[in-house]
Parts: sequence; structure tokens; C-alpha cells
Amino acid sequence: MTSTTCPFCQKLQNLAALPPEDIVWEFENSVAFLGPWQYYTGYCVLISKTHHSELSQLGPRRSAFLDEMATLAEAVEKAYQPHKLNYELLGNQVPHLHWHLFPRSLQEPDRLRAAWFELEKADRSPEEKRRLETGTHSRAEISQRLKNQLKLILS
Ligand SMILES: [Zn+2]
Repeated sequence: MTSTTCPFCQKLQNLAALPPEDIVWEFENSVAFLGPWQYYTGYCVLISKTHHSELSQLGPRRSAFLDEMATLAEAVEKAYQPHKLNYELLGNQVPHLHWHLFPRSLQEPDRLRAAWFELEKADRSPEEKRRLETGTHSRAEISQRLKNQLKLILS
């Protein structure tokens, strides 16, 4: 199932057009993308391969989709040892099932709140946007490190 107006459906139909480091892993039911906000080094967005807005619509594929999310989370944990991993399935802006996995650190000034409070700053200032897009390593290095962990977990 796809939707012609959904940005995630469009993205999934044209994976080859993306920079290779943007794609962390292709699972059976979902694709893991390296997210834009690498201030949270290792932040990923896991998008369902089918256009559904709620977990209840996945039918028998639901557990596999959840398991893929947990596998990706394990890889992020192993790669970056966050103080806490945040798992978010929102869909208010894009109603196509996708998980945000935010590795959180004790060094963050706003660590007790959801990452979105900090990320709102990116809307207000290009400097803040750049800061929040920048991780401890290049996107290619972060993506490769996550891929290496996934290979180990899934082997
Ligand atoms: Zn969609």
C-alpha cells in the first residue's frame, strides 16, 4: 500500500536517488535512515515499507516491524552507548508509520525533555540548525558504524 501524496512513500520508491550514507539498513518490513539531527549521534528514522498510519493496520506484520525497530535500537545502543534511548512513533506531521530513535546523552542541557524541544531551535536559526545536524563524526562514518553493528546482530 502506498500513497501518492506521502513524502515517505515517495522517498521509499526512490532509494537509489539518496546519498548511500542516508540508508542505514533495509529490513523486510522497513527501511532505517540516518536522521538529519546528528547532534544526537546515531539518530535514526525507521520507516515502514507500507503506507499505514497505525500499528493496528499492519496485521500479521506488526511484530516483525516492532522487532526490526528493536534490532535497530540495539545497534544504536551498541554503536553509541547512549545514556538513554528515546523511541518515538508520532506521525502527526507524516501519518506513515515511522520510529524516531534518539540516543540521549547526560551532557545535553535539556536531557530531561523530549529532543523536540531542542530541535525547535532549528526552525528559528540556521546556526542552530547546523549545530543540530552535526554529529561527532561524519554522516558516512556514523552510518557505517551502525551498519557494522547491524551485520553483527543479524549474523
Ligand atoms: Zn506513505
